[in-house]
Amino acid sequence: MNNYDYLLADLTRLNGVGKKTMEILKKKKVNNIFDLLWRLPKSYTDRTLLTKICDLQIGKLQTIRIVPLKYQFPRIRNLPNKVNCIDQTGKIDCIFFNSHEGYVRKILPLNEEVTISGKVGSYKGRYQITNPTYVSHDSSLVGTIDNKYSLTEGITEKIYNKIIKQILLNLPTLEEWHDRDVLEQFGNETWNNSIIKLHDPENIENYKANFYKRLAYDEILASFLVNSEIRKKIKKIKKISKNFTKKAHNQILNKLDFSLTNDQKLSLEDINHDLNSKSKMFRLLQGDVGSGKTIVSLISALSVINSSFQVALMAPTEILARQHYMLAKKLFPKNICIKLLSSKSENNEKKKIVNELKNNKINMVFGTHAIFQKKIVFANLGYIIIDEQHKFGVRQRKLLSDKGGKNCDVLLMSATPIPRTLTMSVYGDMDVSIIREKPLNRKEVKTYSKLENNIDDVLKFVKKEIKEGNQVFWVCPLIEESKKLDHQSSVNKFKFLNGLFPNDVGLLHGKIDNEEKEEILNKFLNKKYSILVSTTIIEVGIDFPNANVIIIENANKFGLSQLHQLRGRVGRGTKQASCILMFKSNLSVNAKKRINILKNSNDGFEISEEDMKLRGFGDLLGFKQSGVKNFKLADPIQNEDLFIMAEKQIKKIEKQNLNINKYKALLKLYDQADIINDIV
Ligand code: ADP
Ligand code: MG
Repeated sequence: MNNYDYLLADLTRLNGVGKKTMEILKKKKVNNIFDLLWRLPKSYTDRTLLTKICDLQIGKLQTIRIVPLKYQFPRIRNLPNKVNCIDQTGKIDCIFFNSHEGYVRKILPLNEEVTISGKVGSYKGRYQITNPTYVSHDSSLVGTIDNKYSLTEGITEKIYNKIIKQILLNLPTLEEWHDRDVLEQFGNETWNNSIIKLHDPENIENYKANFYKRLAYDEILASFLVNSEIRKKIKKIKKISKNFTKKAHNQILNKLDFSLTNDQKLSLEDINHDLNSKSKMFRLLQGDVGSGKTIVSLISALSVINSSFQVALMAPTEILARQHYMLAKKLFPKNICIKLLSSKSENNEKKKIVNELKNNKINMVFGTHAIFQKKIVFANLGYIIIDEQHKFGVRQRKLLSDKGGKNCDVLLMSATPIPRTLTMSVYGDMDVSIIREKPLNRKEVKTYSKLENNIDDVLKFVKKEIKEGNQVFWVCPLIEESKKLDHQSSVNKFKFLNGLFPNDVGLLHGKIDNEEKEEILNKFLNKKYSILVSTTIIEVGIDFPNANVIIIENANKFGLSQLHQLRGRVGRGTKQASCILMFKSNLSVNAKKRINILKNSNDGFEISEEDMKLRGFGDLLGFKQSGVKNFKLADPIQNEDLFIMAEKQIKKIEKQNLNINKYKALLKLYDQADIINDIV
């Protein structure tokens, strides 16, 4: 048995935890003893100081030893139960809302001395404590300090504290996993000591202490290390290398009226190098909105096709899949067979595609995640391209990479720049190519803010732009609480604008089915409408070269990075583009700061850094919900130094090919998924 097994054991291993408590905690994602360690005390009850009733102070949490004298159980609903109590120095009432008589009788039996603690109030000149936070007849408990945790319904503070104390007493001694010089930087705090200190009420919010930093570092290192190991593992997979010439490159470039930017060329070199190599590619192509990732991916796709493999491109929406498909139709030589697998295709058509993929008749297929259904079998899949999937976590990506088989190279594309400190934990399992440079012909989008009251100014501007033949996106506020309201607000805005610009406005929202959506988008692309009212579905990927103005209502509902992404929908052509952010009311100082960042920068990486500094990691593009590692203690802003330190450590391990066996317990504990079993 490993000495960390205790920590990974089931909660019922603990005295005082039965099935019921276990189930309650499981619902809170506490599955084992280790998980419990990270639920930190919020405050504590100090029972070392007993107060006499005559010395009580109103509004303070205090502990008193009293004798209950009389119950008052009113028979009227909503009136609280009351117990009159005394000590040698005075009187106090205990008040119980929503409690049964039986409960009150049990915890405050008449004429027996009891210790309670709670916040002291006063009512009509008498002291009272409402729902005493702690009740005990056990005089041995008087004089202790108990932590207060944010409790889960069904578990009392008393039981919870007992559980935690029990765990802390039984912590196994783990062998130190850090090098001596690393440990010295944390004042040589061992893991055990650190955990004990973490639960010491004296240390609540003691973020700067060595023990706290050590634990945060453990966590960061574990997440980086897992990613690094996954990357190494994928790199070890041997594949048949893809052989091709520059033919595809030239075939496509000849059809374009622009040449590639330097960063596009460099990324393509990275990708080609991987495709040509004998080990599997697992690469991320990161580039701001409009940086031109699609072309890069299509050139590489055609190269792979030329080397006799099939290619699959997966997009998050059908609309985007179709746009990529249409572009490929335009750019690929006619003899290349490409197909779009759409959920709207006829069954016959779908069956045909499935068959042709199996028989190697199709060179490249475009679609949503549907292209990875079980029934879809490729004859010779050599390359998967995944567009705009920053929401995929490490594990989903690994699954995908496994699914393609060993000969299958994988390229992910994302327009979601993330702060540097997070790169290793978000994308540490992949090699990364970055397109920083925007195509030369781009003008920066001018960004303005406007109060909703001044909508007339905005409308005047829109009128002028339309006259000049430009098109406008009108993004309606996202109402997260209710899909229905969300829908309603876009319908209303549509009616309003259609009144002003008859037959020149299109509407797109979540309730419109895919077929109609595409029709509307196509009409907009073909300039049948000048204005497209929409919820945020235009956010990802779609390219409208003629759209020049984007108006975003209730802009404070969006994160900066998201606004930047939306803004990136315009300014693809050569004309000056504008983004108007609308607000319901005057902006707070902080909100102004945020908006100014957006106005002053067009660099997604910079914006994401600033956004994170102002709003914190949690809010950033919903990364927390997206399968990206949730840190328990570490904070990418406060602990930037630890992130950098961990990155250095990983580089050292990779460079010197160090054995990671000594980190086994760290990985087992902090990353409890199966993936670890393949690694250590
Ligand atoms: P994203 O990186 O956001 O996916 P796209 O690949 O959709 O960007 O490209 C955005 C637009 O830029 C497209 O219209 C594309 O044709 C154009 N584009 C791509 N590369 C260049 C370039 N080197 N020069 C000029 N325009 C380019
Ligand atoms: Mg794109």
